[in-house]
Amino acid sequence: MNAPMTTMTIDTPFYEAAGNEIEVFEQAWKNRLPLLIKGPTGVGKTRFVAHMAARLGLPLYTVACHDDLTAADLVGRHLLGDGQTVWCDGPLTRAVREGGICYLDEVVEARRDTTVVIHPLADDRRVLPIDRTGELLHAPDRFMLVMSYNPGYQNFLKGLKPSTRQRFVSLRFDFPSAAREESILLGEAACDPLLARQLVSIAQRLRSLKDVDLEEVVSTRLLVYAAKLVKVGLDPVEACRSALVESLTDDVEVAEALLEVVKATF
Ligand code: ADP
Repeated sequence: MNAPMTTMTIDTPFYEAAGNEIEVFEQAWKNRLPLLIKGPTGVGKTRFVAHMAARLGLPLYTVACHDDLTAADLVGRHLLGDGQTVWCDGPLTRAVREGGICYLDEVVEARRDTTVVIHPLADDRRVLPIDRTGELLHAPDRFMLVMSYNPGYQNFLKGLKPSTRQRFVSLRFDFPSAAREESILLGEAACDPLLARQLVSIAQRLRSLKDVDLEEVVSTRLLVYAAKLVKVGLDPVEACRSALVESLTDDVEVAEALLEVVKATF
C-alpha cells in the first residue's frame, strides 16, 4: 500500500473533528476495512467523508441512496448508443477500478439487492462481481467502501441486516458540543462569534424541548444556514424563522413555540 497522504490542500473541505474519527478513518483505510457512519441528519457525516477523501488524496464517488436504487445503479449497465450497446460503469465500479472511496449515503434506503454487491466488497474478499460483463474485479488497496445511515429514520423493514453491519467498522456521529458547534459556525459561515454563541444556545434549547412534537431536532446544517442569512443582513429572528423553525415543522402552533425560544435570545 502507498504511504498515506495526509497533506491538507487548499481544497480540503473544512471539518471540525469531534474525537478520534479522523484516525479511525485513516486506520480503516490503511487496513482495507469498510466503514459505517451512523447518526442524525446534518451532523457532518458527508462533510467528514469529503474531508477524508481530500486528506488521503482519493477520488470520491458519492451515491445518495433512495428506495428505487438497485445493484445496477451502483455497478453499471449496458446503454444503447449509435445502434450499439455500450457498457457503462456505475459509481461503485468506478471507485473500485480507480481505487477511491465509494460513499453510500443513507444506505438503508437502497433496495435489498444492493447487498449482493456490497457483501463481497465489504469482507476480506474485496471483490466486485459484474454478472453482466462476466468480470470479477479485485479492489485495489486504495479502494474503500463507506456507508452512512440515520438510525432515527430506521423502521422495522429498513434496518440494516446484522450480516451487513457486521462487515463494517462503525462510527457514531451525534450533535456537537456547544464549543464545537460554535467552531463549525465560525468555520462555515465566518459569522460573528457572538452570533455563533447565540445560535448554538438556541439550538441547545430547541433540542431539549420535551413537549414539542418534532420528527427531527435542529441540525448543525440549519444553524449554518441561519448564520449565513444573518451575516448578509437578515434580521436574526426572521433568519431563524426561515432557516430553523419552518424547516423543522409544518405545524403552526409548534412553529410559534419554537419561535418563542428564538425571540428569548434576540
Ligand atoms: P450529514 O451528512 O450528517 O447529513 P453534512 O455532512 O451534509 O451532514 O453536514 C451538513 C452541513 O453542516 C455541512 O455542509 C457543514 O456546513 C455543516 N457541518 C456539520 N458538521 C460539521 C463539521 N464537523 N465540520 C464542518 N462542517 C460541519
